[in-house]
Amino acid sequence: RAKSEGRGTVAHYSAEMDQDLQQRRRIEAELRLAIRRKQLRLNFQPLVKTESGAVVGYEALLRWRHPELGEVPPSTFIPIAEESNAILSIGEWVLRQACRTAVSWPDGCSVAVNVSAIQFARANFADKVFDILRETGLEPERLEIEVTETVLLQDEAQSRAILNQLKAGGVRIVIDDFGTGYSSLSNLRTFQFDKIKIDRSFIATMETDRHARAIVRSVADLGRNINVPVLAEGVETAAQGEMIRADGCTHAQGYYYGRPVEDIAAAAHTSGSVISLAERRSA
Ligand code: C2E
Ligand code: MG
Ligand code: MG
Ligand code: MG
Repeated sequence: RAKSEGRGTVAHYSAEMDQDLQQRRRIEAELRLAIRRKQLRLNFQPLVKTESGAVVGYEALLRWRHPELGEVPPSTFIPIAEESNAILSIGEWVLRQACRTAVSWPDGCSVAVNVSAIQFARANFADKVFDILRETGLEPERLEIEVTETVLLQDEAQSRAILNQLKAGGVRIVIDDFGTGYSSLSNLRTFQFDKIKIDRSFIATMETDRHARAIVRSVADLGRNINVPVLAEGVETAAQGEMIRADGCTHAQGYYYGRPVEDIAAAAHTSGSVISLAERRSA
């Protein structure tokens, strides 16, 4: 396209690329200061059981509000943080903050934390997690670590060793965004996950795309057969909620059940205790 539009367009593109690069460099530099300047915070989104609607935990989602850049979405700054290794200190902050917050939640309510490949590539990652659990007083059974399959591709032997260390210590491991990227069924055999999260792209299209729906149902069946709970991500409507329940997804997450919030006690889905969706509806 650029070619047919002539020289002027090419120049325009490179100016734009230059701006992009400058913006990336700015984000990279500002990110390093974000923790100290207290610009980072966590939001928590409810994870529910499809049968009862009960909230069984929350996923911690990182938020960054910069005074000039405004609210920068994680899809923009996480990849930059990963390239610059800033993800190491940021990831540690996220883990500590998530565990610290979850200690005051009702018994049995778990917290799920996303972990990047770069964090996972560190040989001492599991020790770091256990240190933070001890320091914050959170029971390991209440922590879920969410990884994507790219994490495991880094170094399969080391990934397996770290996963086993974490699991031996009581921490649960969740495979995130399943069905996208480098998803492979052999990963389900090599690594013993405690939960499978079906990527939201399948849920978003399952009402009109019968292939998407068949995939959701097949992953739910697979989970049942290997005894692993399956969560549907990104459920936005009652119709989708009904479909994923009927298809056998044991857990769900999405705007339909609750958006990410800063303070779960102040949010509608709980008032200091875990209450079910049914109770909430009748309230
Ligand atoms: P994820 O782990 O798959 O998290 C779910 C994303 O889907 C979140 O986006 C959440 O806000 C969004 N979501 C939840 N329900 C719905 C829904 O019903 N509809 C739609 N359209 N979206 C929904 P968010 O917070 O923007 O995070 C995006 C991604 O950034 C996350 O995807 C995760 O991969 C990454 N991320 C977020 N926080 C962290 C973190 O602390 N560390 C690392 N390494 N990655 C993080
Ligand atoms: Mg996640
Ligand atoms: Mg996900
Ligand atoms: Mg996702």
